Amino acid sequence: MDLVTPARTWAVAEPAEIENADSHPVEHMPPFQTVMMFLSVVGPVMGLIAAVFLLWHRTPVHGGIGWPEIFLMVVLYSLAGFGVTIGFHRLLTHKAFETYRPVKWVLAILASSAGQGMCIRWVATHRRHHQQSDRDGDPHSPHLHGDGPLGLLRGMWHAHVMWCFNKDKSDLARSVPDLLADPVMVWIDQLYFFWVGMGILIPGLLLGMYYHSWYGFVSGVVWGGLLRICLLQHVTWSINSVCHVWGTRRFNSSDYSTNNLPIALVSFGEGWHNNHHAFPTSARHGLKWYEFDASWVVITLMKAVGLAWNVRVPSEAAMAARIKTVSGTVAE
Ligand SMILES: [Zn+2]
Ligand SMILES: [Zn+2]
Repeated sequence: MDLVTPARTWAVAEPAEIENADSHPVEHMPPFQTVMMFLSVVGPVMGLIAAVFLLWHRTPVHGGIGWPEIFLMVVLYSLAGFGVTIGFHRLLTHKAFETYRPVKWVLAILASSAGQGMCIRWVATHRRHHQQSDRDGDPHSPHLHGDGPLGLLRGMWHAHVMWCFNKDKSDLARSVPDLLADPVMVWIDQLYFFWVGMGILIPGLLLGMYYHSWYGFVSGVVWGGLLRICLLQHVTWSINSVCHVWGTRRFNSSDYSTNNLPIALVSFGEGWHNNHHAFPTSARHGLKWYEFDASWVVITLMKAVGLAWNVRVPSEAAMAARIKTVSGTVAE
């Protein structure tokens, strides 16, 4: 896998003309929203710093970190992570499969605890990303911020986190009418900060009870709450930044999306991003047997027990038609 050469240096032969929209001004969000967003981004990083501190801060009773902290972080990372990948992304944004409405709601609540924004706005933003991918109007393309290494660096910084501070231009009534039509989904959306708070408080209470101490409560808040949110945020945002710059491209798509193995492993399959841009409605992103896609494994299990149906995957013929040749043209 080529993780060194930026995608745009070898994607030039592709048919799509990708504009450089450096001259287009961006609108910043209102001050109150900016403060909330700042806390949402910096707060979890504080959790990372606190986790490192707790690692070395040994007391006579507690020895830094134990299996309960690791177990809690892995379980909650997985629940929130699959909520985002299967719920927010493959199900709610792309309708890659169908399920019962309560399953949608549970997935949306789990995903909300990831601290990546309100459900309906998340879906609207991501739909816009696919409509305008790497073009003017894409909320988080790394390719619209100038040429050269500095332009790419600036673009990656924007695509990774700074885009969060721009005013979202999505017209919700037009882009997510399906979600707005579901009153329970709107209710889940409105209670976003409650779900984030529960995602931080519950691990604190669990470890507080386990250790019978305030130290346990703090340890749970840090490891199961803040650090977990921090890691998952940056993994998700790496798909916006890294997976539109570095990796391989098997399919023609009118953008710079790439497949990136390390990101795919930590993001439960979302790093097979070129596959995803080529076939956005596919429930399966790792389209080869060796492209491990943890979210696809879970969807397969859901299907086996009757919790998922009408699961969409591209046909062999559709995939063959989109295969990218060395010259960048479509294979015969
Ligand atoms: Zn993308
Ligand atoms: Zn998508």
